[in-house]
Amino acid sequence: MIPVRLPQGHYSKTGTVLLRRDSSREGQSLLLFMREFGPRWVSAPAATGKNRFGGSTEPLTWGEFLLYQSPSKLYLQGAEVKEDFLSLRQSPAALLCALRIYRRTSKEAPADCENDALLRMLWSSLVQLREKCPPYIVELRFTWKLLNLMGIAPSLDLCVECGGLLTEGGWLTQAGMCCRRCSQGKGEAVSAEELAELRRAVALPHEKFILWSCETRQKDCYIKNLKMLSPYFSNMR
Ligand SMILES: [Zn+2]
Repeated sequence: MIPVRLPQGHYSKTGTVLLRRDSSREGQSLLLFMREFGPRWVSAPAATGKNRFGGSTEPLTWGEFLLYQSPSKLYLQGAEVKEDFLSLRQSPAALLCALRIYRRTSKEAPADCENDALLRMLWSSLVQLREKCPPYIVELRFTWKLLNLMGIAPSLDLCVECGGLLTEGGWLTQAGMCCRRCSQGKGEAVSAEELAELRRAVALPHEKFILWSCETRQKDCYIKNLKMLSPYFSNMR
């Protein structure tokens, strides 16, 4: 178990830049999401008014980060970029999706503790966007998997009330996906076809998902259901 406050010393960790804050006085503060360390704020002071670290402190960058924990603060000392995902910047929709996923992660992932499963999900999502998977499917997949990791994703198979199989579609309520009988007219209807589509979008392994999602898919289904998943984050607080 990695302590919230690291013992004084030097560290080297792979990860990604989730957020960057610039201050003219103190240089940059970065929220780095690293293997074993989870998300942590790191100070990257400017040297004589210049950013010493170049593009390695841009959000969406992945690399190996060299850190120093002083008695008071965690500092960035160097970074070796492994993948900058610059190609995402050629597609506004892919870039926006990546930034939304990053913002969601910085909001929901607890700071200062290990979260390697979520870090791997983040990496996979950016690779999927780089491979030109439709952003709305990548975002739905990431959002549902993040809710699942938090233990609050609505089941796409079973009614949340009676546990029955959702064979004829479902009705999404604040509590979860209900069968026709339990929904009593409440919630947003999700047809059996939509449910089958969503199940594949969240459950297919990474490589298969890339091939499958690049075939023609119903955009509306994802946009609508993504909107319905968002309130789950605040419902459970
Ligand atoms: Zn039911």
